[in-house]
Amino acid sequence: VAKRLEKFKTTIFTQMSSLAIKYGAINLGQGFPNFDGPEFVKEAAIQAIIDGKNQYARGYGVPDLNSAIAERFKKDTGLVVDPEKEITVTSGCTEAIAATVLGLINPGDEVILFAPFYDSYEATLSMAGAKVKGITLCPPDFSVPINELKSTISKNTRAILLNTPHNPTGKMFTREELNEIASLCVENDVLVFTDEVYDKLAFEMDHISLASLPGMYERTVTMNSLGKTFSLTGWKIGWAIAPPHLTWGVRQAHSYLTFASSTPMQWAAATALRAPDSYFVELKRDYQAKKAILVEGLKAVGFKVYPSSGTYFVVVDHTPFGLENDVAFCEYLIKEVGVVAIPTSVFYFNPEDGKNLVRFTFCKDEGTLRAAVDRMKEKL
Ligand code: GLN
Repeated sequence: VAKRLEKFKTTIFTQMSSLAIKYGAINLGQGFPNFDGPEFVKEAAIQAIIDGKNQYARGYGVPDLNSAIAERFKKDTGLVVDPEKEITVTSGCTEAIAATVLGLINPGDEVILFAPFYDSYEATLSMAGAKVKGITLCPPDFSVPINELKSTISKNTRAILLNTPHNPTGKMFTREELNEIASLCVENDVLVFTDEVYDKLAFEMDHISLASLPGMYERTVTMNSLGKTFSLTGWKIGWAIAPPHLTWGVRQAHSYLTFASSTPMQWAAATALRAPDSYFVELKRDYQAKKAILVEGLKAVGFKVYPSSGTYFVVVDHTPFGLENDVAFCEYLIKEVGVVAIPTSVFYFNPEDGKNLVRFTFCKDEGTLRAAVDRMKEKL
């Protein structure tokens, strides 16, 4: 394996989902719904295939999807963007992140990353030769240590990569935090790459896109995807929204990474994004019910549950059960209890920082969530 990837292991999601299968455990690890996306979106995909929308798409997105993304972004943020010049469709948000980083970061540029972080960020930054500067968010509220951020920014800082609502903690960046980050970025001429794939799963506060704050649109790449919002994580349709001078870099990288994403799925994605408001309201309501079952259940089992404002994840402290660290706890949970969770130490620069925390997801049907809670009540 190439040196730039030597330190990275098989992703934790791959590891845990294969253990789930091996031990017949209930999988509350990898974040994928065990229910299907909406019929009207699936039908749109079938129709697109039948209608012959099956050859390469335009590299930066089929025109109808670029327009639907712009319409959605305007509804969500009030920002008006040019679908032809400021939107790039990618194969999931993971590719949007890769294209953004590879298209805009030079080897040696410093990029600031908040830990815990989704595992692909660090690997992608490493592929680009970026110098990663870490800032750790700490329980109970995982708030941003602004003074530390200030002192971490240097003349070599090219960008901050942030994720709100935040995987794995469920933290949402508050308006105050985003304002402080924004003014530091403007002052120091720093870009921001934001991963907002859980924006429709914002339960305890309103989601704020950093791009919508004064002075920020011109220095922000806003990324999102279809997977979480429409329970279609396997479709891998994502996008990056950025002003033309940044979109240029994103598109150059995207052109030579994947060139284009799946054509019929893009047409169906356009239909999805034009769903009536009621779709988004119901999605949130359904997830709120699932969240309540899991959170109350985990508390009843005896975990210390940290508050989660958004995403379909919740982080707990497993130490009441006496295992030495998060990995040992998750192994025990799979083998002896029959439930899968994700150890969080893999999301930190220093694995010690995550040793008390494990992540559960509630993107499963209510019966599955109850069954997992019952197993833990009985056997932990
Ligand atoms: N985003 C999903 C999670 O955090 C997993 C994606 C993946 O498997 N790489 O669970």
